[in-house]
Amino acid sequence: MIHVHDLAKRYGAVEAVRGVSFSVEAGETFGIIGPNGAGKSTILKMLLGLVRPDRGTVTVDGVDLRRDPVALRARIGYVPQRDGFDEAATGREALRFLARLRRVDPAEVETRAREVGVEDLLDRRIGTLSGGQRQRMSVAAALLGDPPVLLLDEPTASLDPRATAEFRGLVERLAEEGRTVLLCSHLLADVERLCDRVLVLLDGRVAATETLGGPVPSRLEIRVDDPGSLNGELRPFGEAVRRTPDGRVIAELSPADQVRLVLALAQGGRVIHSLETRRVSLEDRFLRAVGNENESHD
Ligand code: ADP
Repeated sequence: MIHVHDLAKRYGAVEAVRGVSFSVEAGETFGIIGPNGAGKSTILKMLLGLVRPDRGTVTVDGVDLRRDPVALRARIGYVPQRDGFDEAATGREALRFLARLRRVDPAEVETRAREVGVEDLLDRRIGTLSGGQRQRMSVAAALLGDPPVLLLDEPTASLDPRATAEFRGLVERLAEEGRTVLLCSHLLADVERLCDRVLVLLDGRVAATETLGGPVPSRLEIRVDDPGSLNGELRPFGEAVRRTPDGRVIAELSPADQVRLVLALAQGGRVIHSLETRRVSLEDRFLRAVGNENESHD
């Protein structure tokens, strides 16, 4: 659905995006995460036709950005960090205004409002809505014209925990209905909960692409006597097992291999002082990708 190839953008001396490629399949929820300044907004702006790439290609739903930027834009429903709604307008007025701008049948306003559960709020003034309600109104606006792709920029940054949970539920539902969702966030919890795959962006480059879901990997931390002498027992597990400078053994293995490792240590006569299993969070993997792994406990 979305194909980005070798996308690059420089602002003067700053190389904001340096040859980024990724593809998002139809119906997939795809995340882009990265620290401030990594180039996330620049990529979004290029997808939306607001910034012209120096190099590279973008196609969405078969439409090439260079050939037809207007048609491409119509295929993306954009939920910005801050909506531009008129505070004094009612939801219905705000959505009808946008429908007219986009040459969409105004009758679609009710359809989209129902789709995201804001039909009862259409007659309320925008300024009186809660953060979560307003965010959903913004999603209804993005869906006008029924674009196949929904692009969410830091969607939960200003929401409280309850509204965040509701919002995630909404995004999951839209994804289940077949929309392709591209989510940009620095909040790993959003990305981890919602996305099938995530691209880690660092200094304008793709540092890693991770597939989420599937069996949750876990991390086993073991303290044994004399960890420096542990070579034979660890070797069969390769890179998945390593020692920390403070003498812990850290293993990221399937449950079955974790059992094998512990058995091997015990059979080798090692005294195991402690065993601790932790889920490997996306944050752990993200920090590793940015070369800043913190081996201490959270
Ligand atoms: P992110 O969204 O990940 O925080 P940005 O895409 O906003 O990253 O920025 C990437 C880099 O490009 C940063 O170094 C930023 O300072 C720079 N940058 C972004 N927009 C401009 C601009 N209009 N002019 C000059 N530099 C910019």
